[in-house]
Amino acid sequence: MPIEHETRDGALIWIRNPITGVVSYVVDVRAKSFAFTLGRSSSTLAEGPDLTTAEIRRAVKACPFCPGNEATTTGEIFRLAPSEMPEWNGRAEHQSAPWVVRVFNNLFPRIPAELTGGRNESYIVIEDCRHFTDSPRKHADLMFTAALGEAHFLHLLAADVRVMRMASENRAVRALVIRKNQGRESGASQPHLHQQIIGSPEPFPIVAAEVRAEREMPGTFEEIVNLMDRLGLVLERRDGIVSYASPIGAFPRSYDVVMEHHRGARLCDLSPSELHAFGGAIYRILRVVGPLPLDYEIHQDEKLPLHAHINTRLYPYSNVAGTLNLPNTLLQSTAAIRSAIERGE
Ligand SMILES: [Zn+2]
Ligand SMILES: [Zn+2]
Repeated sequence: MPIEHETRDGALIWIRNPITGVVSYVVDVRAKSFAFTLGRSSSTLAEGPDLTTAEIRRAVKACPFCPGNEATTTGEIFRLAPSEMPEWNGRAEHQSAPWVVRVFNNLFPRIPAELTGGRNESYIVIEDCRHFTDSPRKHADLMFTAALGEAHFLHLLAADVRVMRMASENRAVRALVIRKNQGRESGASQPHLHQQIIGSPEPFPIVAAEVRAEREMPGTFEEIVNLMDRLGLVLERRDGIVSYASPIGAFPRSYDVVMEHHRGARLCDLSPSELHAFGGAIYRILRVVGPLPLDYEIHQDEKLPLHAHINTRLYPYSNVAGTLNLPNTLLQSTAAIRSAIERGE
């Protein structure tokens, strides 16, 4: 069964998400006032005087994820030292950094430990020891994933794989997900950049819904990818990975990265070159989004192609009773992102 949608003169009018049933309507938003819309420069536009050195020091001292405060987290599982990450771009400014990446259990497990054999299976991966960007002017000038570089991001994914292998040794863990929130507007509880990995005793409901859709309508993922191609929404297709601007995402500006023709692969099953291809495609989207608030999740299941959903929060959340509005500039913005990716920006 095809994905329900309607086009007029080649332009998308509406489309129904085959997994959630949410209908996205394409609308003209040019005349609409977005008083709360986030801008790329929202941090520099923030009110108030610039941060002082003392304020920066105070924020770092109060952050449980900053170096020096290791004792405030649960026990460290592992760390990546600067010597293990030759491409680390913070070296010059932070010569005495004790670590670049650090992994420990979340003090507040997402799923109670009682449900996973008495073991806390929620993990935090600190992406970088730096709390702020270089020379921050506002509290919002936080370090963000895009600023780390692609090689650093691939190191993070390799660290995630290490955590997932460890969690998989717990027989009570049946599913694993990677989740990232960037920025207060995305629901991040800590400003210091980090990922979460969560082990669950049962399939995650959203992934279970994807599996159900795939069972009821075999080839749903391929069908979505083919439709995105026909609608001109594909961003990149290389090395077995396709990424596209999704009109059926959770937010008006969502992007998916899908590993084609390789059903059932989990992140920890990938060869180094496959991990490089998958991670690189995610990173190139994050790089274009930059410091804007976003979230992403990496979904894996033996019945599905490995994939990631990236949601940016350029527009405030607008799902109303199962409907979503997409700006009719979708094609232009997709073309702009495609060229930014090609130019390596
Ligand atoms: Zn910090
Ligand atoms: Zn998914």
